[in-house]
Amino acid sequence: KSGFVAIIGRPNVGKSTFLNRVVGQKVAIMSDKAQTTRNKIQGIYTTDEAQIVFIDTPGVHKPQNRLGDFMVKSALSSLNEVDAVLFMVNADEKRGAGDNFIIDRLKEVKKPIYLVINKIDQIHPDDLLVVMDQYKNALDWKEVYPISALEGNNVDELLDNLVGNL
Ligand code: GDP
Ligand code: MG
Repeated sequence: KSGFVAIIGRPNVGKSTFLNRVVGQKVAIMSDKAQTTRNKIQGIYTTDEAQIVFIDTPGVHKPQNRLGDFMVKSALSSLNEVDAVLFMVNADEKRGAGDNFIIDRLKEVKKPIYLVINKIDQIHPDDLLVVMDQYKNALDWKEVYPISALEGNNVDELLDNLVGNL
């Protein structure tokens, strides 16, 4: 089994930390085409039964100008070409304008979208419930995974679920 998974979220939510944990292989940009669409293959997660290619989708933030607008659109079109999307948020921060901007864009994506609530090591379990409540009805989530990319909590469970749905 193999597939492509895009990871998206505001800066500093922990995307790179997550990828560094799960990915055994750093891969350079594969082709000029990948570069023009600004999709970067960040690495490949490989097990005996499966392979997941993780794609970073930079540029999905509120555009300041027409170039930014173009980049947002190209980043978004790539999201309809993957097998699943991970939308990562920070458990330690309230849902904000940056998150809402991405959520609005994700409404046009017809692929399974996972809500990944990262940095749960930093918060009290009661606060996790509050955060989950803030996002619960924002989209029709395929699954919701609270994780700690730094410490590894629940990361294997998320990967198993992704593999199971390939
Ligand atoms: P990115 O901009 O989304 O790629 O975020 P980074 O992976 O660069 O992480 C931003 C900051 O958050 C870094 O200082 C990380 O060490 C920290 N961070 C990422 N994941 C976690 C986590 O699960 N727990 C904690 N406590 N810190 C984290
Ligand atoms: Mg990063």
